[in-house]
Amino acid sequence: MARALRPVIAGNWKMHGTLASARALAAAVRAGAEAAETRAEVVVCPPHPHLSAVAEVLSGGPVALGAQDCHALPAGAHTGDVSAAMLADCGCRHVILGHSERRAEHHETDGIVRGKALAALEAGLTPILCVGETAAERAAGLAEEVVVVQLAGSLPERFCADGGILAYEPVWAIGSGRTPTEAEIAAMHAAIRRALEARFGEAGKATRILYGGSVKPGNAAAILRLPEVNGALVGGASLEAEAFLAILRAAP
Ligand code: PEP
Repeated sequence: MARALRPVIAGNWKMHGTLASARALAAAVRAGAEAAETRAEVVVCPPHPHLSAVAEVLSGGPVALGAQDCHALPAGAHTGDVSAAMLADCGCRHVILGHSERRAEHHETDGIVRGKALAALEAGLTPILCVGETAAERAAGLAEEVVVVQLAGSLPERFCADGGILAYEPVWAIGSGRTPTEAEIAAMHAAIRRALEARFGEAGKATRILYGGSVKPGNAAAILRLPEVNGALVGGASLEAEAFLAILRAAP
């Protein structure tokens, strides 16, 4: 069943660009996605200050807007944070949560990520929730165990039923140019699927599991055709429209 799931190709623009470059990149991705004969769902996730401008560029087209984080609470004295409802108000339909850079740089625990995911769902946003092991954890043979523990702690009960999306992103593969072998990716995605089915039943079967970590035009087709890989979360290569669109065209 999982092979029939509609793929998602999502771009994480991280802390890059200017208003002008964000508008130009969004326009190029929109034009390319309109021209591509793809059944994939396309999402771009600019930095917060660029969301409204990019929303205008994407309005009425096939590319959805996402953000890169939100707070767990709907409002309050939280300087520098943004709520899920604010993101929805800006035109976002998705939000990346629990990215390893936030887990590392902002000390986000599974419990914090879970609270954010719940807030996102309550605001009508689709979380793209990231899990993944470090190089040391993989070297110690703990990769699957670490990811299964992250899933148990990060996913709220309604996650799968409400259409949440997962992204398996080995920390050591992000921005490094290194990726796991195809067999390692397939094994981890199978383990994630088993964990989702065990906890969420049918809804767990229908949940998209993206791979992220140094996806490029050159390796995208091989990764995207692996069993239980339902799309990609793309960092560096999403900053160049042509590279991102080549990955999009590689989606089955
Ligand atoms: C990411 O940060 O989510 C990511 C996958 O980055 P990159 O594609 O650059 O490895």
